[in-house]
Amino acid sequence: MVASDGTRGGGRRQNAGGPVVATAPAKINLALRVGPRRADGYHPLNSLFHAVDLVERVTVGPALAGGDELSVSGRGAGSVPLDQTNLVWRAAALARREGGRRGDPVRLRIDKAIPVAGGLAGGSADAAAALVALNRFWGLGLAGARLIELAAELGSDVPFAVLGGNAIGQGRGETLRPLAAAAPGTAGALEWVLVTSGEGMSTPAVFAHFDALGLAAGRSEPPPIPPGLLAGLAAGDPSLVGANLVNDLQPAALDLRPDLGHVIGQALAAGAVGAVVSGSGPTLACLAESAPAADALARDLAARLAGTHPPGSILRAAGPAPGAAIA
Ligand code: ATP
Repeated sequence: MVASDGTRGGGRRQNAGGPVVATAPAKINLALRVGPRRADGYHPLNSLFHAVDLVERVTVGPALAGGDELSVSGRGAGSVPLDQTNLVWRAAALARREGGRRGDPVRLRIDKAIPVAGGLAGGSADAAAALVALNRFWGLGLAGARLIELAAELGSDVPFAVLGGNAIGQGRGETLRPLAAAAPGTAGALEWVLVTSGEGMSTPAVFAHFDALGLAAGRSEPPPIPPGLLAGLAAGDPSLVGANLVNDLQPAALDLRPDLGHVIGQALAAGAVGAVVSGSGPTLACLAESAPAADALARDLAARLAGTHPPGSILRAAGPAPGAAIA
């Protein structure tokens, strides 16, 4: 059960002045359809977001000194900016604007599990977790709908990190429509192997390459989400989902990083029912038929890619996962 502030039932009630921990999930775009660049520089999107159980943790506590503090640990922590460009600072500024125990200085800690600049919206997950944690810590009493509005001010992927599950996003990705859970009697879960990459990719650079290659030529708007994808999700049918995964940025990402095309080929040869670049890359989302099949796929890919992918770069994940919540 989820309360208005993202609290899930059954957990120990946090706060009373002590630290508050919130989590938020990574996302995979099961479909990312991209229209032509608009005059304001943005590309209209038609996206099917899917949250997976690879989660960031954000802890909020009282500041030790006079002002706000931020620290980062975990995967890729060294390449996360600590300055005002970190989305968590912007989340704190927005939450503070909402009032509550106004302005008490806070100590924020991000514990990263999502690869930085990996196409899995890790920074957006941090911002979503920070909003939920600060809502509790400062006693803001913001309801879920208001948290999603604030999230939309932070970035186009942040509302989905608050919401979780499966959802269709339109516009810049910030207009969200949750999708119903899988039909009763179907498993519903999707079992993934995520092949990460040591070197991240810049989202603006991939969109610029999409434009340079003329990949939206002849389009006036983003293409639709494949009906087979929606049917596969509703039926809990991984093969149907896998056959309909689509990312319009993929040709641009593969042109910039041809090694990714090789990995997709290996994943399909190793039995994945589908494999796609996640978001703007470089993470590859490889779908398996079942949890045991995904475990076997992860082992097989680790052996096939041993020369280029060190242990720890191939991850197991499952979705749909819940959105940002108090841990
Ligand atoms: P995008 O959401 O732009 O598609 P992504 O999912 O590929 O990005 P992120 O890990 O969210 O990748 O990081 C993109 C960039 O955002 C980073 O290179 C970094 O400079 C900046 N950034 C800001 N805040 C954070 C954060 N809390 N964690 C990671 N990166 C952050």
